[in-house]
Amino acid sequence: MAVIGLVTDSIKMPNLALMKLSAYHQEKGDIVDWYNPLFSSDYNKVYYSKIFTFTKHYPYFINNIEKGGTGFDIYKTLSHEIDILQPDYSIYPDIDYAVGFLTRGCIRKCKWCVVPEKEGYIKSYRTVEQIVRPDSNKIIFLDNNVLASNFGIGEIEKLSKSNYYIDFNQGLDVRLVTDEIADLLVKINWIKYIRFSCDTTSILPKIIEVAELLRSKGYKKDIFVYVLGIEPEDTLYRLNELKKHKITPFMQPYRDLSSSTIINPELRKMARWCNRKWLFKSCSYEEYNDKKRKYPLKYEETIKYFLELEGEKDAVI
Ligand code: SF4
Repeated sequence: MAVIGLVTDSIKMPNLALMKLSAYHQEKGDIVDWYNPLFSSDYNKVYYSKIFTFTKHYPYFINNIEKGGTGFDIYKTLSHEIDILQPDYSIYPDIDYAVGFLTRGCIRKCKWCVVPEKEGYIKSYRTVEQIVRPDSNKIIFLDNNVLASNFGIGEIEKLSKSNYYIDFNQGLDVRLVTDEIADLLVKINWIKYIRFSCDTTSILPKIIEVAELLRSKGYKKDIFVYVLGIEPEDTLYRLNELKKHKITPFMQPYRDLSSSTIINPELRKMARWCNRKWLFKSCSYEEYNDKKRKYPLKYEETIKYFLELEGEKDAVI
């Protein structure tokens, strides 16, 4: 019986690869738990999955380590024997949803994206039935471009007739939303809302068109859009247009995959404004930038804002 340790930089989302590795080792009778450096000599093997390229590396030396994930090596994958296993959700006791992919890969080759290189062209991967867990009616899908796959659309059709609550948390490709697809999307039980991506200004008219189409078909929730920020001026234009059409943007400043730096500090500031919804709704970016402006905020909101700037995100006032 071996003792297996797990390490990851993925804090908000459960790490699918580690859950499958945990399932594999538990089937073999091994002990699996999150790595604790106080007991470093007890581990026979430690799996370190680094999802992001921009997060810091684990600061201490680890014996018998095996590294994987986009943050280390985009070509490294789980063996088929491990990949087909059901994830072990017991390592995330607070997670009450299933997580998985219906499809892998993408039909496009956006120059800022690692998916085409890492996963190749779109292909079917798992059915809904293979992803669900018996103790939950919620599923978070991690697909990169599910609408590019007829198989994926077929699975969405199943979901539209089911009682599952779902999310495609990487965003759907709005360019592939037809009238028929929109009919499916409005029938889905969304955990939060529909998410799209708007990485270039050329996609903006389609986002606005699809938002209007969905609303005309009875969709009432927020429409959430990931906005990749590369050039500040162009990014701000997209953010303001989305705001005008009551679409909720979430801005992600472009990060260089190799150097892990944000190209333009202006984009970071813009993201700070955009992603704090109470700021985004209450003032323009120009007003936000105006140091002399007196924010029309309550005292508590002002304190919270400055605490957040200091990184005290969960500060209780
Ligand atoms: S459409 Fe999305 S997943 Fe596909 S290559 Fe472009 S950014 Fe990547």
